[in-house]
Amino acid sequence: MIEVAFLGSGSSGNCAVVRSGRTAVLIDAGLSVRETSRRLKALGASLCDIQAVFVTHEHQDHARSAADFALKRGLRVYATEGTARAARLPGPLFADIRTVRGGDEVAVSGELTLRVTATPHDGHESVCYVAADSGGRRVGIATDLGHVSRKVLEALADCDVLGLEANHDVDLLRSGPYPAMLKRRILSDVGHLSNDAAAAALYGLVGPRTRAVAVLHVSKQNNTPGLAARTLRETLHEMGVVLPCVIAPPDRPTAWLGPASLGTAFSDACDGDGRGERPACEMRTCP
Ligand SMILES: [Zn+2]
Ligand SMILES: [Zn+2]
Repeated sequence: MIEVAFLGSGSSGNCAVVRSGRTAVLIDAGLSVRETSRRLKALGASLCDIQAVFVTHEHQDHARSAADFALKRGLRVYATEGTARAARLPGPLFADIRTVRGGDEVAVSGELTLRVTATPHDGHESVCYVAADSGGRRVGIATDLGHVSRKVLEALADCDVLGLEANHDVDLLRSGPYPAMLKRRILSDVGHLSNDAAAAALYGLVGPRTRAVAVLHVSKQNNTPGLAARTLRETLHEMGVVLPCVIAPPDRPTAWLGPASLGTAFSDACDGDGRGERPACEMRTCP
């Protein structure tokens, strides 16, 4: 059965591990190979379990180690042509780089399939991925979105586990220290999702199958984990939905999340705003 853990999330590095049976893949390679290995070990997994790396786009916080995984670890790396070029991934003579495009479906094994969807972001050809196991249970992960497009909405609707960016609080960003140009870029249609935009998207994304929402790519400068979680939790409450909201921190992994693991993952009581020490401490039950 499918499960996901977020090894790290935010502008310092994004990486998630999705596994089903004996098949496991990384989504994004924004942490060093060594740090990825260290965080996998904390989850009881290993780099040796990983069969492939799927890269969303060329920005360093997502693609930093993609070439290293391909060249040093011999892992197959999937990326769009635009991402492969912009991230300067090695050519096919040197590494196993596979090109994907929006609408593709990649069967990593009989146990795990990934579907590719184009995203509105200021990369060269950015995408997001929805992973599914053989029973049709799905994990959808979407970060680095200026807005939630119709395609993204359709692709990620009613996933068993939804990982969604809540990057910034608009007021904190506007009044914060970033240069005006960067603020405009983040706020644009191809920038990043605000807490409010992520919360609004929950109406279209959360469905009867959804068991957990992971809150991703929370900005250190323009947001707080507590603010992001509260905004999304209030919307879930308005929707009459009781779901755990998990803040994925930048510096340590979340627990495994999936249809089969929620019982243990969410039995751990949580307090504060998700800055505690335990890996499972961001688990919250809404409301
Ligand atoms: Zn990013
Ligand atoms: Zn980006």
